[in-house]
Amino acid sequence: MILPVTDLILNRHFSMLIVNVYNFGPYENCVYVMYANVKKVAVVVDAASGSFDGLKQRLAGHEIHLFLTHGHWDHMCEAAKFQRELKAVVYAHKADQNWFTTMEQRNYAPPNVSFETISPDIWVEHGQTIRCGDLSIKILHTPGHTPGQIALYVESLRSVFVGDTLFYRTVGRTDLPGGNFDQLKDSIRRILYALPEDTVVYAGHGKKTSIGSEQKHNGIVPLRENSL
Ligand SMILES: [Zn+2]
Ligand SMILES: [Zn+2]
Repeated sequence: MILPVTDLILNRHFSMLIVNVYNFGPYENCVYVMYANVKKVAVVVDAASGSFDGLKQRLAGHEIHLFLTHGHWDHMCEAAKFQRELKAVVYAHKADQNWFTTMEQRNYAPPNVSFETISPDIWVEHGQTIRCGDLSIKILHTPGHTPGQIALYVESLRSVFVGDTLFYRTVGRTDLPGGNFDQLKDSIRRILYALPEDTVVYAGHGKKTSIGSEQKHNGIVPLRENSL
């Protein structure tokens, strides 16, 4: 039994909303599950190796919205199982289409990882807001780590799910195909650092942080050039 790390979020919109954080796969990917309480709606962020078996019982009976932060295999390799077995609606950005829909990156993943391609149901765009039960999720297109990398901003939870763009005190790698450090820096400064300072940052790997804390202490992309 995989037990989640649980964050309770208390605010004026929700008496209690839970962000469950699970770690799956060889890279210890963070997979997030939020329940939009009233209607048995579950929002899932990423589909790492092992996440389907780890979550299927908890998610059964829910209307599931699965957001893929980007196309790297460690975030999407089991998305097809959620779509097929649990009827999840799968959202992603088209600029990573090749990684989602072809076997191009199969050899990056260890052979024991169950890798399937995925045809997302909905291609999202920057600035779009998607309503999932009680939750409104705003899509931010933040290229740099990959061309189709997105962040999910949930203002009502003061939270942003950033995939591999921004981590605690560091940033995502840009040496893989399609990566671009200048773009990454621009996405972080212009889009993520523009969010309120108290916004909690939930990354694709590692521990959570906040926008304000990274603005001040991130050594790779500080708020301004030479601001450290
Ligand atoms: Zn990645
Ligand atoms: Zn990753």
